[in-house]
Amino acid sequence: MPPKTKTKTKTKRVVKDRRQKRKPCNFCIERAIDVNYKDVVRLRKFVSERGKILPRRISGSCAKHQRMLTVAVKRARIIAFLPFVTE
Ligand SMILES: [Zn+2]
Repeated sequence: MPPKTKTKTKTKRVVKDRRQKRKPCNFCIERAIDVNYKDVVRLRKFVSERGKILPRRISGSCAKHQRMLTVAVKRARIIAFLPFVTE
């Protein structure tokens, strides 16, 4: 009976399909040229509860915009728009 071999190929496929599609970058959608450090409401979304900057794999932003974002968050921290740490 052939069903045994069929199940084997199926399990292999499941492993391959587990890879998720990358969600598009928030800034690229809006065609943002730069990330404004004064836009605190927006920057908040890219900062964790503890005040840490979210990594690219979680925030979903592209390399170019993630770099701009980190600079913007760091600037916002210095002028006290965003906290360095929250307890
Ligand atoms: Zn982008």
